[in-house]
Amino acid sequence: MKGNMMCQPLLISSLIEHAERYHADTAVISKNSDGTMTQSNWREVAANARRFANVLDHFQLTQGDRVATLAWNNHRHLESWYAISGSGYVCHTINPRLFPEQLTFIMNNAHDKVVIFDKTFVGLISEIKSALPRVEHFICLDAYDAEIEKALPDVLFYDLLIEKQSDQFIWPEFDENLASSLCYTSGTTGHPKGVLYSHRSTVLHSYASCLPDTFNLSAKDNLMPVVPMFHVNAWGIPYSAAMVGCGLVLPGPMLDGASLVELIDRYKVTNALGVPTIWQGLLNAAANLGSTLPSLIRNVVGGAACPPAMVLTFKERYQCETIHAWGMTETSPLGAVNQLKAKHTVLDDTDKLSLRLAQGRPPFGVQLRICDQEKGINELARDGLTAGHLQIKGHWIVSHYFAADQSALTQDGWFDTGDIATLDQDGYLKICDRSKDLIKSGGEWISSVELENIASSHPELEMVAVIAAIHPRWDERPILIAKKQAQSQVTAHEILTYYVNKIAKWQIPDQVVFVDTIPVGGTGKILKKELREMYGSILLES
Ligand code: ADP
Repeated sequence: MKGNMMCQPLLISSLIEHAERYHADTAVISKNSDGTMTQSNWREVAANARRFANVLDHFQLTQGDRVATLAWNNHRHLESWYAISGSGYVCHTINPRLFPEQLTFIMNNAHDKVVIFDKTFVGLISEIKSALPRVEHFICLDAYDAEIEKALPDVLFYDLLIEKQSDQFIWPEFDENLASSLCYTSGTTGHPKGVLYSHRSTVLHSYASCLPDTFNLSAKDNLMPVVPMFHVNAWGIPYSAAMVGCGLVLPGPMLDGASLVELIDRYKVTNALGVPTIWQGLLNAAANLGSTLPSLIRNVVGGAACPPAMVLTFKERYQCETIHAWGMTETSPLGAVNQLKAKHTVLDDTDKLSLRLAQGRPPFGVQLRICDQEKGINELARDGLTAGHLQIKGHWIVSHYFAADQSALTQDGWFDTGDIATLDQDGYLKICDRSKDLIKSGGEWISSVELENIASSHPELEMVAVIAAIHPRWDERPILIAKKQAQSQVTAHEILTYYVNKIAKWQIPDQVVFVDTIPVGGTGKILKKELREMYGSILLES
């Protein structure tokens, strides 16, 4: 016997309808490509989404067709997302910082029919346009600009297009399992692969990410997603923000620390999300500018391991609670979030901190396990000590990659994350390393993350990365790549001495390489693959 309850498909359009109906005047503030600010709200975002849906309607696309976006976090980009997915097309967000060859590979692989882009990327689009034969329309996410028209003769302008359209549009109703958006992995460890999300997975993921034990979002928040909308859909924030009806501050193209401090203080941001390199820049800028970040109650850090020193600085200097989260493109991305339980309130500050530094536990909707092999043959103990291949399953986890024939799962239906981790009895996850970043020294594993955590707590180092260098005797040995703080005179010997008594002697890096810059990818993550290419043979040379 079936239950007697209503059954409505979980569609992305219902999120924007909700935000408009119940949170119409809540502010959506956005920084444009030219640095000017736009003050909007959910009413206008929803109305413009319907206007742009009318524009797309004229393009005679078919349900499921891909519409690509190359854009920063701004209000027009947000509107276009709701228009694309709400109409039944697939919103393909692209990382504009990829190499042109990677971009054209991804766009041709996805069969993008329309490309919408920020003014910042006019040069990039001009460069790759001829390599995109399938694209029928190019839309600049801005007002009319004669210079841009000269550079790209057939270009359309978003503001001109929507100006002429009615704000009436009935969102179509369809199967919640249809595709809503497409995102390629950032390719930190390999070739980018497409992950095709569905309306259902996106809405369920939004419910989960608002919970008090995850990002803890509500209509009282003013949220700033610093994580780009092309990086796993800004961790789903454009959807969960509409679900709870909170304010949004979209930072546009300027993600340096000083610009972010200015936005947080000016618009009283309560909660912000980003990768560790972003927060490092913010902490440096806040100290230089003398800001105490008074409005910032929480920040979420994910995408890479959060250095312990960062959590402490946010807490002690800014009274800001740092929430550590783990996820990946294939997991929408929420896989685990670190919030403590009632039983942890009795712990002293040191124990609480050590628990908070792990990646947290899974929300309802996903399950985690660790296995002795990537294929998932034997599940290992959840004792907080045994490390193994981390696997995940749940409502918003990939089952196979875009345009791939084969399943991405183990035989018994789990997705192998490529991470090596421990789990404890409560499900608290601790990522030891990515399997590709682990250093295999004489048959023993050394975690690059652990070595980075120690180095990043050194007051004279601004940014650090540990990689495996090939070693004639031990196969691989760790080396530390470090960028010093301005004016620092610290020596390699002093840094290596700093490791003594903090870690087993044989795990201390063999060498320190001081550099002026450490390469980071489009999502702000350190590109270890690139570092390995540059310095991976350094121990063979000495
Ligand atoms: P890419 O795989 O190209 O870097 P993703 O953004 O999907 O793109 O990265 C997912 C990976 O990032 C995870 O598999 C994990 O190795 C790493 N990661 C994400 N969050 C954390 C975290 N909090 N701590 C450590 N590693 C993390």
